[in-house]
Amino acid sequence: MSEFVVAIDGPAGSGKSSVSKAVAKRLNFGYLDTGAGYRAYALWANDNPDSSNFPYSISTDPDAVTVLVDGVDVSDRIRTEQAAALVSEYAQRPAVRELQKRDARQRMADCEAAGIVVEGRDITTVVAPDAQVRILLTASEEVRLRRRGLEGTESAENLVSRDQKDSKVARFLDAAEGVTVIDTSDMDFEQSVQAVLAEIARIRN
Ligand code: C5P
Repeated sequence: MSEFVVAIDGPAGSGKSSVSKAVAKRLNFGYLDTGAGYRAYALWANDNPDSSNFPYSISTDPDAVTVLVDGVDVSDRIRTEQAAALVSEYAQRPAVRELQKRDARQRMADCEAAGIVVEGRDITTVVAPDAQVRILLTASEEVRLRRRGLEGTESAENLVSRDQKDSKVARFLDAAEGVTVIDTSDMDFEQSVQAVLAEIARIRN
């Protein structure tokens, strides 16, 4: 069980995943990408509408984040436009959110690193509201669309509608009480990593 939890929420394209993973590596912490669980679930539920148990696993090692569904590596498939287009519909369902919350908490409990960085949409408010560090990582819509465009993984239209739907069931467009906002609009990747590390150091010291 990791004693130190860093919870990071933010909209699509805010740089959450890459920044969180880099921070975890530098601190020798575990890393949990909760969006991967929602993406994998959406693809699996779409392919298996009648099945109820979701045979999912993800590692919390930031150097080897492998996403398995039924033993098959879906790490690449969950990043496709198809997954991005399906995911928000499933994420609206309370039963799906409950399942994902439990799964995330279990993986946090099982993580043996000294700390863990957990990122998503509802980590600071629902999954780990007691986390020692709670951060909302944001960037202007223009910057987020540019970053996603460079990756080429999702259309601008889908990104905007995903945030709109997601924000109905999770609070990540503004900060809840006690959550520190880090706006990366004018930061490059390394500056964003440093900003998160500085916030962690502020709380840890
Ligand atoms: O972070 P990522 O873009 O991979 O998340 C994919 C989708 O999973 C989000 O658009 C949202 O629908 C859902 N999600 C969520 N709560 C989280 C993480 C992701 O609803 N904690």
